[in-house]
Amino acid sequence: MNILLVGAGLSGAVIGRTLAEEGHQITIVDTRPHIGGNCYTERDAETGVMVHVYGPHIFHTDDAEVWDYVNRFETFMPYKNRVKTTSQGAVYSLPVNLHTINQFYGKTLRPDEARAFIEEQADTSISEPQTFEEQALRFVGPDLYAAFFKGYTEKQWGCSPTALPASILKRLPVRFNYDDNYFFHQFQGMPENGYTPMIEAILDHPAITVKLETTFDAAEAADYDHVFYSGPLDGYFGYELGRLGYRTLDFERFSDTGDYQGCAVMNYGDRDVPFTRITEHKHFSPWEEHEGTVCYREFSRECGPDDIPYYPIRLVDEKAMLADYVAKAEATAGVTFVGRLGTYRYLDMDVTIREALDTARTFLVHVREGTAMPAFVKSPL
Ligand code: UDP
Repeated sequence: MNILLVGAGLSGAVIGRTLAEEGHQITIVDTRPHIGGNCYTERDAETGVMVHVYGPHIFHTDDAEVWDYVNRFETFMPYKNRVKTTSQGAVYSLPVNLHTINQFYGKTLRPDEARAFIEEQADTSISEPQTFEEQALRFVGPDLYAAFFKGYTEKQWGCSPTALPASILKRLPVRFNYDDNYFFHQFQGMPENGYTPMIEAILDHPAITVKLETTFDAAEAADYDHVFYSGPLDGYFGYELGRLGYRTLDFERFSDTGDYQGCAVMNYGDRDVPFTRITEHKHFSPWEEHEGTVCYREFSRECGPDDIPYYPIRLVDEKAMLADYVAKAEATAGVTFVGRLGTYRYLDMDVTIREALDTARTFLVHVREGTAMPAFVKSPL
């Protein structure tokens, strides 16, 4: 079959590769001048530092098949994300762990003592936290919430944590030991030469043609047997019901010599510091050595029509509009919506790859059985 994939990011590459290996002809279009979507990395010409152009991407997963998949296309180097945060004039370790708790409260608690102490701080009247704030008050109490989460989250999301779902905070563990690994997944690493060569290798198949700087026109769908669309869901329909809300990021890039901050990621918890974090990219490749350094100051704001959408907001209003777009998508034959933008969800890279593999396999079953491929393999709702 002749398949069109819109978007040369992770979803497009993985679906394209899987279907190409099964004998289908794949065309992938992307409006950008490069592949890789927001995972795109490139070496800084001046310093040689590998830069995560659209912000830091750290690969972590519990999914053994996904881990094997990425390792098939690129060498992954050991990497542990250890994040620090500057708050109220001091530097602390994240995610909240025993070191953070002891330093913050000036104590020397052991694990069980810390657990009991934090439970005393916590608002135990909240039995099923619904909002971000409730989740924080329930699990870390008001002091740690104010120091590490409230200001950061207001900056990151542009709204009160009382309006955000608890699921956003559930991304971060709270630990009663000194483990400061930001992620709790079994597999974690960084591609030796960045994500761009990994995605290039996935796309390197004789049945795949990639056309960059090429804008998809919905009328072209008729020329193909099926379309997988990883662009913004609302964009597919010309934003006719309005725009789904996103946060976008501005990066203030600066170079220096030596070591600017001593770690890859320094968060800033205080509300009056306008940026959320500074990332120092050479620390994402700790096996490399560079004299110079490249850093990003990261600012979050509402995404306008000409900005790059990063984080889907998914508050109550967005969810109503989303349901209407999902209905439109389901009434559109021959197109499947995939990935972070196509399904309007906050997806990590490993989940994106997992869903792309599942989507391609579901498609192959439908082709074999002669049945219609659905608009979504993973519902956005
Ligand atoms: N967060 C926070 N303080 C921090 C780090 C994270 O309040 O120092 C909150 C914030 O709302 C953020 C969420 O936790 O959006 C998830 O954090 P994560 O580090 O997973 O965000 P990402 O790296 O995907 O932007």
